[in-house]
Amino acid sequence: MVNKRIDGIGMTSQRTRERMLMRLREQGIRDEMTLAAMSEIPRHVFVDEALSIRAYEDVSLPIGFGQTISQPYIVAKMTELLRAGKTLTKVLEVGTGCGYQTAVLSKVAQEVYTVERIRPLLMKALTTLRQLKLSNIKLENADGSIGLADFGPFDGIIVTAAASHIPESLMQQLAIGGRMVIPVGVDDQLLHLIERTSEDQFVTTKLEPVKFVPLLNGVKKD
Ligand code: SAH
Repeated sequence: MVNKRIDGIGMTSQRTRERMLMRLREQGIRDEMTLAAMSEIPRHVFVDEALSIRAYEDVSLPIGFGQTISQPYIVAKMTELLRAGKTLTKVLEVGTGCGYQTAVLSKVAQEVYTVERIRPLLMKALTTLRQLKLSNIKLENADGSIGLADFGPFDGIIVTAAASHIPESLMQQLAIGGRMVIPVGVDDQLLHLIERTSEDQFVTTKLEPVKFVPLLNGVKKD
């Protein structure tokens, strides 16, 4: 039963997923490793069964607790930006949500740390990621705006909730030569790319407008 759900049929089949891939190419995604990862990961298993027929549309969908799974284009764009054509060794994701972006990252990085403040969401993501037998992922129920100092530095940090400002602790947990992709802003949000070029130098590039749920403080246990 589980495998049948993973394999998918009709609107959740590999063919539908390949159409999503074609659309991503049309939208300008060029990184083959990112595209291969998104071809491999079944997006429909990360949303409730009733919504799974919409899983390959280019839309964000509700995942409970007022949170959303990001649209495929944004997942692809952020992964491509983070990779910049290189293999990532250690990545931190802030905002696990349903775990879809995490799963995609697990295919392009050696090790993925992901942090979610809402515990029940994290537990659900853990179950899904286990079903897919992705083993290079570590999940933590914590406030990701302060990062995961014990496990850094990271050569990639991806934040999937919008920050009002770029958290200083995340900057400090970026390895030299590392990259962070983060949506910044309250009403009008812009995707930012931050590259750490030396111990005390960071280069920030403002990219396209995006729409994310807010990055909040503290941990929610239930
Ligand atoms: N990457 C996810 C996106 C989920 S939405 C996906 O594809 O499903 C963003 C998530 O960030 C939400 O689940 C929200 O609870 C979480 N979040 C917000 N602020 C956070 C914080 N400070 N630390 C950890 N997670 C946070």
